Amino acid sequence: MSEPVIAPVLEAQALAKHYSVSTGFLKPKALARALDGVSFTLAPSHTLAVVGESGCGKSTLARQLTMIEAPTSGTLNLNGADVTHADATLKKQLRQQVQMVFQNPFASLNPRKKIGHALEEPLVINTPLAAEARTETARAMMARVGLRPEHYARYPHMFSGGQRQRVAIARALMLSPKVVVLDEPVSALDVSIQAQVLNLLMDLQDETHVAYVFISHNLAVVELIADEVLVMYLGKVVEQAPKTTLFATPRHPYTRALLASTPRIDATARQTRQVLTGELPSPLNPPSGCAFHKRCPFAVPRCEAEVPLLEELGGGQRVACHRVHEIVR
Ligand code: SF4
Repeated sequence: MSEPVIAPVLEAQALAKHYSVSTGFLKPKALARALDGVSFTLAPSHTLAVVGESGCGKSTLARQLTMIEAPTSGTLNLNGADVTHADATLKKQLRQQVQMVFQNPFASLNPRKKIGHALEEPLVINTPLAAEARTETARAMMARVGLRPEHYARYPHMFSGGQRQRVAIARALMLSPKVVVLDEPVSALDVSIQAQVLNLLMDLQDETHVAYVFISHNLAVVELIADEVLVMYLGKVVEQAPKTTLFATPRHPYTRALLASTPRIDATARQTRQVLTGELPSPLNPPSGCAFHKRCPFAVPRCEAEVPLLEELGGGQRVACHRVHEIVR
């Protein structure tokens, strides 16, 4: 019997965000293509990891998904509704369905507000719940994320890094969103605490069927939590694949280099892959053709002249590289 088709909760089609950037006094403005044609679908209870170096467009993508910014072009669908063309009223409703957790939860918590009040705030703004019901909901959510009842009346500075991230996750879930965008949510935590927070996220996903967009530069963490991985380079997707496929048979030279620089159990595999050198070019002045060609050990003249398009290789793996069929795995 074939598997039932699950409707995506989030769908991006050729999503792009370009910024006009000043290059100096009396100089013409330049166009930075921070996000350049990103497409994906995300099903409920699934986690899409977005990986790449700092400046690759991950945070720009997060701002489009959370509707903090409007894309320059492309479409975004949330639970069947077109976000990109929604009016203000619909956009307000849709915003409640996508919440965000940042790397530094302390920055997103008001130091003068008790945690209980911080958790209740989204309910005050967005629901008709009475004070008593709000407190009850906040206390129940605290228990779900592993916080104790006495934490309700404490201030953010009284919490450890891991506890603050639990508070941030609880706050993000207060309105029962369909999607949570997690921007480097465990990068600032000790390794042992990272594992606890990741386990909590996975448990909450099992309970609530929330979908995660998990933004990270750390592939070891991505390997634990992701279902699908999107590898980004200078605003574009260069490889997209189910997690197991991507880690077993990475096909884009950039993905291979990222994996080579990640501590893995499979040390033999690591030795056979090339190491990433050089820096990410500026999106204000991207290299011609394949944006990775100046750092790629497999580059040929065609790579400098022609932009590679994403090609479906089967099994959901898509790669943008002219030489994908020649490069030995
Ligand atoms: Fe390297 Fe060329 Fe492939 Fe780009 S298109 S990743 S430069 S081989």
